[in-house]
Amino acid sequence: MKQTLIGLGLCALLAWGIWRQPPSSPGVQHREFFAMGTLMQISFADPVPAGLMNRIQTELRAFEQRWSPRGDGELAQLNRQLTQHAQAPLPPVLRPGFVASQQACRSSDGLFDPGMGALVKLWGFDDESHFRTTPPEPETIALALAQRGKLCRAELDAKLSVDVPGAYFDFGASAKGRAIDAIVALLRNNGVHNAIVNAGGDLKAIGQRADRLWRIGIRHPRPQDAQDILASLSVKDGEAVFSSGDYERFFISEGTRYHHIIDPRDGYPATTSQSATVVHTSAELADAAATALFVAGPQRAAEIMGRMGITHYLLVDAQGDTHTSPEMRARLDGLP
Ligand code: AMP
Ligand code: MG
Repeated sequence: MKQTLIGLGLCALLAWGIWRQPPSSPGVQHREFFAMGTLMQISFADPVPAGLMNRIQTELRAFEQRWSPRGDGELAQLNRQLTQHAQAPLPPVLRPGFVASQQACRSSDGLFDPGMGALVKLWGFDDESHFRTTPPEPETIALALAQRGKLCRAELDAKLSVDVPGAYFDFGASAKGRAIDAIVALLRNNGVHNAIVNAGGDLKAIGQRADRLWRIGIRHPRPQDAQDILASLSVKDGEAVFSSGDYERFFISEGTRYHHIIDPRDGYPATTSQSATVVHTSAELADAAATALFVAGPQRAAEIMGRMGITHYLLVDAQGDTHTSPEMRARLDGLP
């Protein structure tokens, strides 16, 4: 257990390594804080408006409370009602996020599905205190899979209706993107024209950095010999870059890596990828699509990205081979 926790800490540091803006960039100011379970960094190539950082942190705290599957926020209360019922009032403040995720669930052919929270919990990836070192029993996985609240099929009116009681929603695969879109809107509305918002390696750019575009590194899923960057990319105004990887949260049992991205088709961690990266102007869609791409793997990558409206993607498959769309390849530097 201790070893696994140390592994987790190391992962967090490595994930942070995706951020490759040189620390000594003249005219760029960095602001850092913890939110959404990760280290957030906003780099400004413009003056930082007074009071804006406080406002951003206050809004993020409210967002986190609202979208946390546990605790006493709106989503947690909804989840509690769904344990006994297949129907519950859908709080208006959650509706737009549910609708956006339902769209992504459908376009990904159900590979991205926030209705799988019970499986995430069962595998122990919902909270560090639930961390496990062996996989759950196959029967328990089958039961959680049967009870999941398929978001693709849910009715989203004043009430949320799912197929069966026992659904548990977890927006861990798209909420960070939704939050980054909100921060970027807040920055723009407050006169910030050049900045980049980075949440533990997932990011969105506004404008550029002095006379150049913002430039970022995409993390290597299996870094070797201090080579922790797989490729680099210049990010245009309004673009978000999101990655999903099997290195973020995982345990190793009898030589097999079990990680936090679950395949909704069988309830086990997806096995065909090491990491998936997508670029899109909606951070919320980019976040959902990176998760879907990871589950899709190399065989269905082009089909699922096409359905989701993603033109720029990079996938590292389970063997470490890379697969990209032509549009993405044309923009990447350093890819072998
Ligand atoms: P990400 O790092 O954006 O790929 O999100 C992974 C997180 O989303 C996990 O920690 C789970 O909370 C949740 N999750 C895992 N598998 C899926 C899936 N197939 N669809 C939607 N959410 C998922
Ligand atoms: Mg995601």
